[in-house]
Amino acid sequence: MALDSHIERVLWSEEQITRRVADLAAQISADFRAVSPPPVAVGVATGAFLFLADLVRRIELPLAVDFVRAESYGSGIQSNCAPTISLDLKVDVKGRHVILVEDIVDTGHTLCKVIGHLKSKEASSVSVCTFLDKPARRKVNVQLVGEGKFYRGFECPDYFVVGYGMDFAELYRNLPYIGVLKPEHYQ
Ligand code: 5GP
Ligand code: MG
Ligand code: MG
Repeated sequence: MALDSHIERVLWSEEQITRRVADLAAQISADFRAVSPPPVAVGVATGAFLFLADLVRRIELPLAVDFVRAESYGSGIQSNCAPTISLDLKVDVKGRHVILVEDIVDTGHTLCKVIGHLKSKEASSVSVCTFLDKPARRKVNVQLVGEGKFYRGFECPDYFVVGYGMDFAELYRNLPYIGVLKPEHYQ
């Protein structure tokens, strides 16, 4: 069955995503222009992989790129309160400005864990660039480090969304847009 036929509603089209990513990259390029050594963009695997790839290729500055993976053992659509870092950085972030790149911030538990991890590695600042933000479901505040800034693509209504890197049961990450699944596919 074709992938599009699983989607009930498109929330952000490929064109809207492309335009918003370009805005975010322009903002980051301006804000980090004077930073030395070059900043480190850290994607949270797996969900951020498409956003990270699109974002960094539009940032007009030298920068390092790396990944961390944070895993929570919750159900398919809910993260639990204590995610663990299951893949660590290769780049040494000590004394560097880090831009943490996420697909979506929901309760905030994942981001808190990863920010704490980067802080323990003595990053000089931690900024967050998340494509989607669901503030209605926030349980813990996102505490940036140093002069860190918070960037977001769009505020997301309280739906479980898929596409543009985001999965349901490891599927739908390859959708080029963001949408909501038909109920019969959440099984
Ligand atoms: P948090 O720890 O902030 O509750 O959730 C963070 C992670 O849960 C996100 O990085 C993402 O992987 C997953 N997540 C939260 N909301 C959604 C959603 O609406 N759709 C999908 N596919 N994943 C989500
Ligand atoms: Mg994520
Ligand atoms: Mg997931």
